[in-house]
Parts: sequence; structure tokens; C-alpha cells
Amino acid sequence: MRILITGGAGFIGSHLCDALVASGHSVLALDDFSTGRHENIAHLEGHALFSLVSADIGDEAIVRECVASADRVFHLASAVGVRLIVEQPVRTIDTIVHGTSVVLKACARYRRPVLITSTSEVYGKSGKVPFGEEDDLVIGPSTKRRWGYAVSKALDEFLAMAYWHHSRMPVTVARLFNTVGPRQTGQYGMVLPRFVQQALRGEPLSVYGDGTQTRCFCHVKDVVQALVRLMDYSQARGQVFNIGNAEEVSIRALAERVIELAGSQSPIRLVPFEEAYGPDFEDMQRRVPDLTKIRESIGYAPRYTLDDIIRDIIEYYTERRATRAAGA
Ligand code: UDP
Repeated sequence: MRILITGGAGFIGSHLCDALVASGHSVLALDDFSTGRHENIAHLEGHALFSLVSADIGDEAIVRECVASADRVFHLASAVGVRLIVEQPVRTIDTIVHGTSVVLKACARYRRPVLITSTSEVYGKSGKVPFGEEDDLVIGPSTKRRWGYAVSKALDEFLAMAYWHHSRMPVTVARLFNTVGPRQTGQYGMVLPRFVQQALRGEPLSVYGDGTQTRCFCHVKDVVQALVRLMDYSQARGQVFNIGNAEEVSIRALAERVIELAGSQSPIRLVPFEEAYGPDFEDMQRRVPDLTKIRESIGYAPRYTLDDIIRDIIEYYTERRATRAAGA
């Protein structure tokens, strides 16, 4: 089968490319390298089953051509990371809303099954933990830039569902909770790569707020397996699924765990949200997925624990540092 992956050079996209090539599929990655990186897919370049198109997801002609040539489409291209979202709100909304509209239109035209990746961010500040797919989305005011990301991703979901209702276009929506693992960069704000790099450098770990807020981290390999299996599950069409791991941890406890597993002497530094993201920032206190639906549908259960995940990321960054030091 020939599979198109938008955002194929990104953190999750590149792991999805690896999994699909390894199972014998022909993969076409589309990426504009805004946040995607060549090094994520360098090992695939030259592989007979892998090809790459370097273009913007908003380029209708190119997207149409890529979709026409594929049997199935995974749409991962998106603005990512709280830092990038807050610093580039216009680009964030445009990439998400326009890009997904272009992809869905092309998939409708050629009737290609498509899986759209959304985010747990759409649950916003809901206090009803854990978050189930049919729960209300509780989004903050439009004066706070962060919510522009949540609303844009929610609009992508509404558009996908509209295509399903309008023409039974085969579309599935996956809401990804905090996904982490090797190749993720801390450049756009994501906490785990930042903590690991700080711990390895012996720098203070920057815990935002008071560190009592919680998240649930899922290994990218678990997420990728779920995406592949959801695409294969025809009853998933027209539906929304949470993907994640329900092991909840406070950000302060996460920092302590990283320090311990890295064997680091780094202290913890509490950073006010205002200092990290500016005055109009709102964080959510708890974010936990209800995984009942995906477990009952495809038998999904995450295999990696939080400690496995942290160890994997420490190993990744330790190797990178060693390679860089050897090359310097
Ligand atoms: N965070 C932190 N230090 C950092 C980066 C993030 O304490 O250097 C916090 C952030 O405020 C949030 C949590 O870690 O409460 C997860 O942040 P991330 O940006 O990874 O994901 P999201 O906020 O989208 O869950």
C-alpha cells in the first residue's frame, strides 16, 4: 500500500514513517521543514520504500497530487508546541485550519481514507477528569493566544466530521495526549526534552508555575501503533479516539524523576508562567485521558511506563551529545 504522511519529517510523523516502511508499505512524506527536521528521516532517505516531497501543506496543487498518488493518508502536519503557538499565533491558526481544509478537500475528491491527528488540548480547561471523547470542550477566551490552537484543532475535527456526515468520507480523528520520545525537541516548549537536556547539562530544571499541574505522557511508539491500527479499523470512520497513557504525574515529580534517572545534580527552579509565556497565559491543572473507547475498539494498551520513556529520552540525548562532541 502507498501511504501519504503529512508532517512526515516531524517527531511523530518520522516514527510513523519508520513503522510503515518496516511493515513493507511505500511511504510518501510531505513536510515543509518548518518544525520537521531532515535528521528525523535521514536514515530513510534512499530507501526504496520511502520518498519525500518538500512543500507547504497549504499548497493545494501539490497536496492534491500527493493524495491522488496514495491509498491512505495520515494528516499530522500542524503547528506544534506551546512556545511556538504563543510566539506565532497567526501562523499557528493558518497552518492548522487552512492546511487541514486542503488535505480534507483532496481526500474527499479522491475518496482516500484519512486519519486526522488532533490534540488533547481541545479539552481545554475542563475539570471533568479523565477526558472522554464525548465530553464538552471547555476553551478559554480569544484574548489568550493559547486557546487559538485548541479552537483551530477543534475546528479541524468539526470539518472532518462534517465531511463524514456530508458524504461518508472515510475519516477518523485521533486526539493525541502528551506524546514524547526520542527525536522530540524542546525548542517549541515540550517539557520532557527540556528537562532531560537541562539535567544532562547540569542546569536547573525549569518547572513552570508551582509544578502541581499534572500530565500523562505516552511513548511515541505506543502512539504510532495506535494510529496504524485505527487506520486499519474500518469501524473507526466518523469517530474520535483519545490516544495516550493514563499514568498521571505532576510536573514537579516529573522533574525529580528525570534528575534521578539521569544521575544529575541539577536543582529545580520554579519559573512563573508569566516569565515563561508572557502575561496572558493560562495552563490546565490536570490532563488525563479516558482510554476506554480505544481499548474496547482495537485492544489498545500502552506498553511503555513513564520510567521507560524517560530512560529512552535520556539515552537519545546522551547519544546526541556524544556524537556532537565527537564531531566538534
Ligand atoms: N513545563 C514546565 N517547564 C518547561 C516546559 C513546560 O514546567 O520547561 C510545563 C508546562 O507549563 C505544562 C507541562 O509542563 O504544565 C507540559 O508542558 P508541555 O508544553 O510539554 O505540554 P502541554 O502544556 O501542551 O501539556
